[in-house]
Amino acid sequence: MLRVAVVGSGPSGVYTAQSLVQQTLVPDVRVHVLDRLPCPYGLVRYGVAPDHEKIKSLQNNLRTVLEDDRVCFVGNVEVGPGGVSPARLLELYHAIVYCVGAATDRHLGIPGEDLPGSRSATDFVSWYSAHPDAAGNGFTLGARSAVVIGVGNVAVDVTRILARGPGELRPTDVPQAPLDALGGSLVREVHMVGRRGPSQAKFTTKELRELGSLPAAQALVDPAELALDPAYTDPAALPAVNRRNVEVLRGWAGAAADDRDRRIRLRFFLRPAEILELDGRTAGVRFERTLPDGEGGVRGTGTYENIQAELVLRAVGYRGVPLTGLPFDATRGTVPHAAGRVLRNGEPSPGEYVAGWIKRGPTGVIGTNRPCAKETATSLLEDAPALLRRTPEADPVAALRSAGLRPVEWPGWLAIERAEAALGRSLGRGSVKIPDWQGLLSTALGSEAER
Ligand SMILES: Cc1cc2nc3c(=O)[nH]c(=O)nc-3n(C[C@H](O)[C@H](O)[C@H](O)COP(=O)(O)OP(=O)(O)OC[C@H]3O[C@@H](n4cnc5c(N)ncnc54)[C@H](O)[C@@H]3O)c2cc1C
Repeated sequence: MLRVAVVGSGPSGVYTAQSLVQQTLVPDVRVHVLDRLPCPYGLVRYGVAPDHEKIKSLQNNLRTVLEDDRVCFVGNVEVGPGGVSPARLLELYHAIVYCVGAATDRHLGIPGEDLPGSRSATDFVSWYSAHPDAAGNGFTLGARSAVVIGVGNVAVDVTRILARGPGELRPTDVPQAPLDALGGSLVREVHMVGRRGPSQAKFTTKELRELGSLPAAQALVDPAELALDPAYTDPAALPAVNRRNVEVLRGWAGAAADDRDRRIRLRFFLRPAEILELDGRTAGVRFERTLPDGEGGVRGTGTYENIQAELVLRAVGYRGVPLTGLPFDATRGTVPHAAGRVLRNGEPSPGEYVAGWIKRGPTGVIGTNRPCAKETATSLLEDAPALLRRTPEADPVAALRSAGLRPVEWPGWLAIERAEAALGRSLGRGSVKIPDWQGLLSTALGSEAER
């Protein structure tokens, strides 16, 4: 039997497990899907916006894989200091596939970035998604004006959540405290700002279009600013997504303000230069006007514009973090690999693999992780004859327990699901997430103790 540990239960981890068990090359494969959290599904649970129910429901597909007899979820096991090391994992399994995602966000590197009121979109997402690491690090939303820096899908997500009216998120699984804070939010203007032009924005058309159909907020753009982009005037040569984006923006250009009480202002060709301060807190952002440089980028013009805002969220990309004991390419924020085989000093490291964001960087949609995982699984299965020459220790979960870890297995996760459903019922809502480590672990481990 080939025993594999997949580290990370997000899409890439689960798709890797699926590829490993649904093949015929190696007849008997067992996969343990480890995660530092007691809950599976990675960013599908803790990143995908709560009002995107259809994408959230992908959890059901991932669940089918984790319920396969040949696959076992082992949560609350961190790989790294304080948990289990990569070297120790290699004593417990024939092969390890690291699918740990890209856990941190990129910084702007401008003065004032760390002022109170200037935060990362990651913090905001983790808060409304009830990531247990975000417990105690919430948002009060007393600002009237917010700036979101970035024009990718995460920027659109946080803009939309900020612009939703009271009650709109009630049917979702947002925990009660963020739901109350968002319901009482004073934010009325959300400026979503990109340093390049509308034809270069990274958001997808579906996400963009959604900003134009919110019940409580109107999306506005300035036609003069859009016209700074030559490809806005003539989008014929643009890739399809960018062309459709331009068409959506054209539809909004010049619309008169209506009676909805919130505004989303999409701004372009503005590069953040400084977070402005008043009384020790964020008071706005100073932007430098940019213009196309004729080579696909932008150049500064030396003219500046201030946008007043008491809340600033940067959404300028994610970044992988090094895992102690694994090689890391600090420039790309990924683990060096060849077709998913981890490279140490340029050579494949026997039994070590990567998939997902930590392999290829934080790009693409959930579905992009499927072929990525398949490539890695194929490499691993090709290596199986050599991997099977080693005999790992007999019972890895017992070994993790005797090392002092407290793994949460599938019944523990099911107990969390039941508790979240019960919490929702008690609040007159659907399932509502438990937002803190203590609540999650006492529910999961309590139920395992009862078995
Ligand atoms: C805010 C946000 C919203 C998004 N919305 C969408 C969307 O609507 N539609 C879409 O198609 N895509 C969306 N994406 C992209 C999508 O979520 C990613 O493509 C996908 O989650 C990447 O999968 P992954 O498995 O590589 O990483 P992740 O999903 O991040 O999973 C990594 C897992 O590894 C675990 N882990 C990390 N470190 C360790 C460790 N040391 N030990 C053990 N476990 C560890 C983590 O707890 C996590 O469960 C979104 C991304 C973000 C950030």
